[in-house]
Amino acid sequence: MGALDLDEGPLTLHFIPYPSPGHMIPLCDIARLFSSRGHHVTIITTPSNAQTLHKFVSHRLRLHTVNFPSRQLGLPEGVENLAAVNSVEDSDRVHEAAMLLRGPIECFLERNPADCIVADFFFPWVHDVATKLRIPRLVFNGFSLFAVCAMHSMYANNPMHLDAYSNVVRDLPHRITLNATPPKVLVDLTKPLLETELKSHGIIVNNFAELDGEDYIQHYEKTTGHKAWHIGPVSHICRTAEEKTERGQESVVSAHKCLSWLNSKRANSVLYICFGSINQFSDKQLYEMACAVEASGCDFVWVVPEKKGKENESEEEKEKWLPRGFEKRNVMKGMIIRGWAPQVLILGHVALGAFLTHCGWNSTVEAVSAGVPMITWPVHDEQFYNEKLISEVRGIGVEVGAEEWDVIGFVEKKKVVGRESIEKAVRRLMDGGDEAQQIRRRARELGKKARAAVEEGGSSHKNLTSLIDELKRLRECRK
Ligand code: UDP
Repeated sequence: MGALDLDEGPLTLHFIPYPSPGHMIPLCDIARLFSSRGHHVTIITTPSNAQTLHKFVSHRLRLHTVNFPSRQLGLPEGVENLAAVNSVEDSDRVHEAAMLLRGPIECFLERNPADCIVADFFFPWVHDVATKLRIPRLVFNGFSLFAVCAMHSMYANNPMHLDAYSNVVRDLPHRITLNATPPKVLVDLTKPLLETELKSHGIIVNNFAELDGEDYIQHYEKTTGHKAWHIGPVSHICRTAEEKTERGQESVVSAHKCLSWLNSKRANSVLYICFGSINQFSDKQLYEMACAVEASGCDFVWVVPEKKGKENESEEEKEKWLPRGFEKRNVMKGMIIRGWAPQVLILGHVALGAFLTHCGWNSTVEAVSAGVPMITWPVHDEQFYNEKLISEVRGIGVEVGAEEWDVIGFVEKKKVVGRESIEKAVRRLMDGGDEAQQIRRRARELGKKARAAVEEGGSSHKNLTSLIDELKRLRECRK
């Protein structure tokens, strides 16, 4: 059927995000992208998670809430997101509770027909429901396609019964040797999920084609026969300082305070340190980080967990993670943010010189969009793959040398990355030598490409148009 025959009426789409900021923030941005193109979207979520989304509600974007069975799993009322817990046990409970949402969500999907369901890959059961209802399903896993290709390759080349995987990723356009091997538990968790997503109509990727690279897109489509739609970086949907400050959660520091502090700094002079929404380091590790930052002499913005420096934290408690007198000595040089930071706003400031990051995919693609080079310190999930995309494949960062791959960020780490390694990596990017300048130049160029990708005529903008056309075509076929 030709494009001219398509019913041009708006599509109806249902979005089902997984309750963790790294999954929920980008999928809700994607929902907003569809509604900004005139389509009707419903985000299906739970009451606490809905609180962060009310500001986006319009006649084209609505929320449907289902109850989160916190009590049933022994979680306090209102704890409905991985960012709200700080132990492995509680994170397992949040995950288990999220898996129990199938009943009420399925009920909603049956009663409210849509043209497409876009669900997180943590909800593989959506495949059965969508098949039963004859509705196309798209999957969002929150990864770069580079990481997805690497995972498929790892899983194909390492039999499941192996206790330890190799750290060499074979059969990709580049030969990749990871700095650690993936934990078996992570493989056991993600392998079946990645297999189920191959049964969908495609995956939506929060990235732009130029960063994953045509070679990886072709590799994915050739080896899996599956379609990947690159429509990012989706954080570009947040245009104003206010939108950037409220993205995900309300920031603990105002946009005004952040911007006036950053405005007082020279271009490329500030190191930004943030390890995402769920990672936790030991006091000992934070202490090493503080010593390294101070020794490097850089200006810095350092995001630490909310409980650090809470009002009643005693000097004795504080000195476990922060060297004595650190705040006083660095009152002009540094800003410590205790709790949620307006990351996209900070990364977009010209004062930013480098980002010390855990390589969570959202953080990575946000830094790339802003043209900020990275110091990579992967910790969990697929972050060790992202590190290689940043440091070796695209040459827009340097590695700190982390070698401990956890399943999730809450795990107590056995190894501590020493202050010397951290300081060395920071200096490599912040000292302005030849290597740093080349890395910075490449990061800037990619940043320009990222911004161009989402503008009219850019690759991601066109991909979103094609995806919308494809969904209209599928709607026509079902009539
Ligand atoms: N984020 C933020 N402020 C914070 C911590 C995190 O805005 O203080 C956002 C960040 O911009 C990103 C997301 O939370 O969009 C974290 O996702 P990522 O994939 O980087 O890491 P995860 O939290 O899943 O480990």
